[in-house]
Amino acid sequence: MKQSKLFTKTFKESPKDEKSLNAKLLTRGGFIYKEMSGVYTFLPLGLRVLEKIKNIIREELNKIGAQEVKMTALQKKEIWEPSERWKDEVVDDWFKTKLKNNTELGLAFTHEEPITNMMKSFVSSYKDLPIYAYQFQTKFRNELRAKSGILRGREFLMKDLYDFSLDKKHHEDFYELMKEVYMKIFQRVGIGDQTFLTISSGGSFAKYSYEFQTITGAGEDIILINREKNIAINKNDFNETLLKDFNIDSAVKFEEKKSAEVGDIYNLGDKFSRALDLKYKDKNGKEKFVYMGSYGIGVPRLMGVVVEVFADERGIVWPEEIAPFQVHLISLNQDKETEKIYQKLSKSGIEVLYDDRDLRPGEKFSDADLIGIPNRIVISKKTVEKQALEFKKRNENEVRLIDFDKLLKEYL
Ligand code: ATP
Ligand code: MG
Repeated sequence: MKQSKLFTKTFKESPKDEKSLNAKLLTRGGFIYKEMSGVYTFLPLGLRVLEKIKNIIREELNKIGAQEVKMTALQKKEIWEPSERWKDEVVDDWFKTKLKNNTELGLAFTHEEPITNMMKSFVSSYKDLPIYAYQFQTKFRNELRAKSGILRGREFLMKDLYDFSLDKKHHEDFYELMKEVYMKIFQRVGIGDQTFLTISSGGSFAKYSYEFQTITGAGEDIILINREKNIAINKNDFNETLLKDFNIDSAVKFEEKKSAEVGDIYNLGDKFSRALDLKYKDKNGKEKFVYMGSYGIGVPRLMGVVVEVFADERGIVWPEEIAPFQVHLISLNQDKETEKIYQKLSKSGIEVLYDDRDLRPGEKFSDADLIGIPNRIVISKKTVEKQALEFKKRNENEVRLIDFDKLLKEYL
């Protein structure tokens, strides 16, 4: 894509009303636009990153036989009453609304109840199970605080997956598999080294659950980590009983880190299938409640965490797999020559943002650093004379003079 055609512009100054680094850099780079506190539009560059993250998640979930759906954001009150979660005293961040005839509706903050109810149309026998269904869907939460940019939105995209299993054992096997799948996803997104499977309280669902916590000063959580033993525990839940339950020696010395929860996985048991009467007949014709789990990832939060983890004083640094483009191609008054390189790269299947704007080199370089595309190629008078390209990685200082074929073979 030619940068002159991109309708967004970069900004030199950070917006005054943003405190978090992710919101400042993503706004300055033209990735997001703030509609109101906790509510952001994704602009062309931001949407490309979001879609890349979605595709990584989608690929990994499809591999294990999960099927994608898209449920509705408007939800019926009756579905939420049996589990008691319609009540504001139980769920305090609902956005609720009404039809013209005064029928009350909810705006989705999650989907356990609607999907459990929906599955009654498709599940009657043990032969129908297991079912693993997931979606990318907008959630609405009337969050008290929305100060962390896209880490905590009042409207945000979540990937939520639900497993409908025959029994505890089948559910637990899937739960264990999902731990691996989640780590694979976070590795591909680029934050594998900073992300820990963390023991946490199970909230209202179970005694314990697991969170995937990424170490970053921007996070709202505190986790205790022992790297040697590969244990991480959310500080909120840290107590003697937990140590005993997980067979952890109370003499282990933990380090404390601030972190952000990028995903979580819950064992739901039959809480929702019982409330909404989702049953199947087993081999002997006996009726049983379906055994469930739910698995969330906050997609924009994940994107914001990546910004927080890798940014430097010059701007964003995207990991290769989720960068909006693979290459930022910059022409320094060599448009003819650069156009040829642009065509060649595009033909090789490489996604290129081509800075063909009529700006000073310094402005182009600082925009490239701000936008954070992992590979930069510069075409200048000097490179044309030497019949080479100037190549630099965003996260390295070394500038290489290299010929096209070698670059393609060794670096892209
Ligand atoms: P938190 O403790 O951060 O409020 P949660 O445990 O309530 O999150 P879940 O309902 O389990 O969150 O949602 C699944 C995932 O969605 C979380 O692990 C997190 O990554 C993401 N998420 C939750 N709330 C938000 C939000 N307001 N904005 C962006 N992402 C969110
Ligand atoms: Mg959670």
